[in-house]
Amino acid sequence: MFNNDLKAFFADKETPFYYYDMKLLEQTLDTCASAADKRGFHVHYALKANFNDRILQLIQAKGFGADCVSGNEVKKSIDMGFDPGKITFAGVGKSDKEIRYALSHGIFAFNVESIQEMEVINDLAREAGQIANVSLRINPNVDAQTHHYITTGLDENKFGIPNSELEKSAAVLRNATNLKLVGLHFHIGSQITDLNVFKSLCVKVNEWKNWFEERGTTISVLNVGGGLGVDYKNPDGNAIADFEAYFDIFDKFLERNANQEVHFELGRALVAQCGSLVSRVLYTKNGVKKHFLILDAGMTELMRPALYQAYHKIEKVGSGEQATINYDVVGPICESSDCFGKEVPLPISQRGDLIAIRTAGAYGEVMASNYNLREEIRYIYSDQL
Ligand SMILES: *Cc1c(COP(=O)(O)O)cnc(C)c1O
Repeated sequence: MFNNDLKAFFADKETPFYYYDMKLLEQTLDTCASAADKRGFHVHYALKANFNDRILQLIQAKGFGADCVSGNEVKKSIDMGFDPGKITFAGVGKSDKEIRYALSHGIFAFNVESIQEMEVINDLAREAGQIANVSLRINPNVDAQTHHYITTGLDENKFGIPNSELEKSAAVLRNATNLKLVGLHFHIGSQITDLNVFKSLCVKVNEWKNWFEERGTTISVLNVGGGLGVDYKNPDGNAIADFEAYFDIFDKFLERNANQEVHFELGRALVAQCGSLVSRVLYTKNGVKKHFLILDAGMTELMRPALYQAYHKIEKVGSGEQATINYDVVGPICESSDCFGKEVPLPISQRGDLIAIRTAGAYGEVMASNYNLREEIRYIYSDQL
């Protein structure tokens, strides 16, 4: 993908920058939307994966809803034209100000994560003379088989309402004058590549759905969250996640009633592969045990390797060279964790060469910081070519 045409296009550009392949993004969105539509599924895009304006514009234009985890994300999605009737608002720590803001815009649903939060939303809705739609976020205790920092559905995690509190939650809901239960919500983690995990999730969703229905509670929406993983090892071979196989699992294993809607909240799978971080080699250094490539991008532009020891494929921009040396590819930040990859096979490189760090469209630009007083993040879109 990062051929000599791109190398020429990048030659006079200031680095580092995020490069977004808008055509790949569009193909990914179309593939996901058609696989979801076919089954009558609804997809909300999880803004926290990437809230770059151009990316949001395209996702909004394709008719996706929005999944938000802060008041500012709710505001951003409304500003970008997302239909408030398709906005969900999750998160364990919604402030009163954020709740009031979302209430005033009539969002689709709050995904509530504790009994106390339900009581607060009920009070604030009463003050505003409104009824708040809520989905109960249930912690199903399903192991997502992913990195422990991005696992959210186990008993030890802070997210959702634990099984032991569901009886009480149902009672609080029955007595809450200004809450309307629309559905159940589950989100068990991110970068899930074993589809059997989603099968286990379906089993739990069915159990909880039955539990509520046996108690005479109508559940209109089953929101099964996001978490579908992408192929970090082979971004060109598997540029688009297998949405058909993913949705098929839910189609087969969720026991939905007539008129019961199934909602998803996908982030990473929609945007990860369209983005790459492009950087220049500042220096090469031969250490006692290592060859280092020192880039002008660091953990301040892409934090995932430092934060979760995440793997990203690293390539030299431009084609035709054979891999000859193993480099530790590092950034300029004053932290030893500021390393994009160890012993990465790359063509012999020198000062000024361009390096692409792939699959950086999700949880990349959004996590950038100005630690070390770094410059603001730059980006280039493929349609500027
Ligand atoms: C982060 C998040 C998502 C999106 O997760 P991905 O792994 O990026 O698909 C969905 N729902 C909630 C509640 C989240 O916090």
